[in-house]
Amino acid sequence: MSSIGWGLIGASHIAASEMIPALNAASACHVAAVMSSSPERGRAFAATHSIPRAHTSVEQLLNDDEVDVVYVSTTNDLHHEQVLAAVAAGKHVLCEKPLALTLEQAGAMVEACERAGVVMGVNHHLRATSWMRELRRLIGAGAIGRPLSAHARHVFRHEHANPWRTQRPEAGAGAIFDLTVHDADTLRFVFGDEIAEVTAFSAQHGVGQGSVEDTVAGSMRFASGAVATFHDSMAFDHPGTRFEVHGSEAAIVATDGLAEAPNTRLVMLRGRAATELPYGREADPYLVGVEAFNAAVRGDGSPLARGEDGVRSLAVALAVREAAATGRRVAVAPLAAAAAAGR
Ligand code: NDP
Repeated sequence: MSSIGWGLIGASHIAASEMIPALNAASACHVAAVMSSSPERGRAFAATHSIPRAHTSVEQLLNDDEVDVVYVSTTNDLHHEQVLAAVAAGKHVLCEKPLALTLEQAGAMVEACERAGVVMGVNHHLRATSWMRELRRLIGAGAIGRPLSAHARHVFRHEHANPWRTQRPEAGAGAIFDLTVHDADTLRFVFGDEIAEVTAFSAQHGVGQGSVEDTVAGSMRFASGAVATFHDSMAFDHPGTRFEVHGSEAAIVATDGLAEAPNTRLVMLRGRAATELPYGREADPYLVGVEAFNAAVRGDGSPLARGEDGVRSLAVALAVREAAATGRRVAVAPLAAAAAAGR
């Protein structure tokens, strides 16, 4: 395979703003085709992004011999059936988060990819940021002592041309599937630990419509006993993101690291001293993810976030949703439960 051909299912905002620039910048791959259910939008999208072919059905895109990898960035309710179709056609798959709407669907997707022997990744891009990889390295090296607690704050105002993410519950809308699912992945990633149970409150502050929450806050307990709090919203005029980890010896605070264009400061707090931590150049996390995925397709390593990671972050998001709806603390379903449900 000289140049890996990528086919895009979904003429989406994230494909246009982040993934196509990353695919164009990555080595030895190219965007071969895009699929949109709207022929006009698909043609216009292909012309704007210099994509050779615009298909109008998933079947057409999957019959395109130049497509080796399928990137799925449609509304969340479509991920399941589109990933299963791509795998059945023998394509490798990078799917957007959340992987699916239910653990049964997500388990079936992972199982199908394993059975077909194709590479499966989930686009949890935040674990590809330079600062977060450095944070994970530092925690693993004992820089904060024993990890005790964490905090993730991920708030902004949702101003998107396509309102499904704040209005259509049946499409998987809302702050929990949009943002908390990222918190789950980043917290698991930096602590190298699994989230065991959660509590949560959700709210509507004027952006979410119908039954869709635009804000959620809550807490998580890890298997190790460490705890985390999170606060996610699509309804805030004054955006700000913050990620903190506290250990028995020190704490590290990252400001602006979860933003779309991170401009992150990493500061270590030890006693009364605050020291800014250098972490090298901030790489484009989407490009880092694409390079890792392409390497996995060539038999070298695995995607930065694998299918199982997508199942686990979805399991946490579903537990948060249940906790917010019932007011009870909810145990996160273990990976084995999703695998069994998906079979
Ligand atoms: P968009 O709303 O831009 O597009 C989603 C789908 O809506 C497209 O597949 C398209 O399907 C349809 N669509 C696009 N434009 C229009 C239009 N003008 N009118 C009607 N339908 C349209 O989605 P996002 O980019 O916001 O999100 C896509 C996925 O990516 C989601 O799963 C989301 O959670 C995820 N995401 C991930 C991010 C990350 O950083 N990892 C960041 C943002 C989103 P079709 O062309 O077939 O009609």
